[in-house]
Amino acid sequence: VSGSLLGPGPEFDRIRAIASGLGSRAAGLGDDCALLEIAGTTLALSTDASVEDVHFRRAWLSLEEIGWRATAASLSDLAAAAAQPIGILAALTMPGSEPESSFASIMAGAGEAVASVGGVVLGGDLSRGASISLTITSIGRAPRPLRRRGARPGDGLWVTGELGGARAALMAWKVARTPDPGARVRFARPEPRIEMAGWLAKAGATAMMDLSDGLASDARHLAAASQVALRIDLDRLPCHPSVPGEAQVVGEAPGSFAAQGGEDYELLVTLPAAFDRKPDRGLALTRVGSVEEGEPGRVIMERNGVPVTLTGYDHFA
Ligand SMILES: [Mg+2]
Repeated sequence: VSGSLLGPGPEFDRIRAIASGLGSRAAGLGDDCALLEIAGTTLALSTDASVEDVHFRRAWLSLEEIGWRATAASLSDLAAAAAQPIGILAALTMPGSEPESSFASIMAGAGEAVASVGGVVLGGDLSRGASISLTITSIGRAPRPLRRRGARPGDGLWVTGELGGARAALMAWKVARTPDPGARVRFARPEPRIEMAGWLAKAGATAMMDLSDGLASDARHLAAASQVALRIDLDRLPCHPSVPGEAQVVGEAPGSFAAQGGEDYELLVTLPAAFDRKPDRGLALTRVGSVEEGEPGRVIMERNGVPVTLTGYDHFA
């Protein structure tokens, strides 16, 4: 991909094919946001689709939660670039049989999510379709944009918050169990880490991305974009409290379970080796590994010092 490099996987092979087909008609595909310099300001733009029966099932979420979740997922890409949200555009598709109030309910959730980080709903589009689909385009300002490239050998590798909660909820729903309430919140109302992202940028972060497909797969994109290798200690991952129980059900170690869990929307960030500050607010920041010279794009994950092979979520795998 021109201007940026992606890790392996069928979804990303499709992006590579699109980029090569577009050639010079595309600019720098493959980062969390498109960054545009306009009149002395850097604008950050990102778009994200949330599709019924692909990203969520109606039985799992309220309409407000469907709106919140889709919006938070899109805003999370602004966080990845350390951008401050201005607002969102929403393209909403719903069956014609839906009452009028359903449209307002979904958009109430979307509005609440964007307001939680200081933005507004700027506009959108409605369409009739077979099922619910909500595509959110987020627009922000990025005075000090971070990208997936920029990690240097010797940097520390860190994650915000806790991982694996959204996957824990998903695993419970998939076998018709009621998820742990805390895990359900992680899936239904993820929080875009906008404020933390700004703090990390000021603290000297060298590269950043958000975790949408799971650490095991997302880390490869940061490693590929930065042309470095990453070493991750799975025993150090900050797991959501619901993870040990769900991991045991599927016979995985908690760290492996959390590393393969998508949709936590936490941040993966590299910081200079000497960094050891604590963020002022409640959100955790945990060092999980390091940046190394080595085969560009390689991610070595270890448990008890032994390398293990894991995968994340790929839409087309
Ligand atoms: Mg992203």
